Amino acid sequence: MFAHPLKMHARCTSCGHSFDRGNGYFLGAMFMSYALVVLIEVAVIAGLLLAGLGWWTIVIVAAALVPVIGPLVAFPYSRVIWVMIERRMLHWGEEDDAALRQELTRRQRARTASSEEEAT
Ligand SMILES: [Zn+2]
Repeated sequence: MFAHPLKMHARCTSCGHSFDRGNGYFLGAMFMSYALVVLIEVAVIAGLLLAGLGWWTIVIVAAALVPVIGPLVAFPYSRVIWVMIERRMLHWGEEDDAALRQELTRRQRARTASSEEEAT
């Protein structure tokens, strides 16, 4: 999915699925990224507390380092998670819906054609 950690391929290298789904598609990935950065922040603070470091060290790391480095670390994971959620969960039943729409359109056309035959 990624050419390198900060650059995505436009298409899946194995199945050709296009990752460019239009404006705003990766807005969901932003929320994933936020959640991941919060998790990283909590883990780092817990680790520093357990290591017995002073409060100022913890405050500097929590307020300066994690907000800068966290999003860079979370970026590829957040996009992978978002694409997975979008592909696996938000499109459930879409093929069935498309098949149903196609069948309804076919019936509508058949009805229209038969009523036109009666009229002539
Ligand atoms: Zn693929």
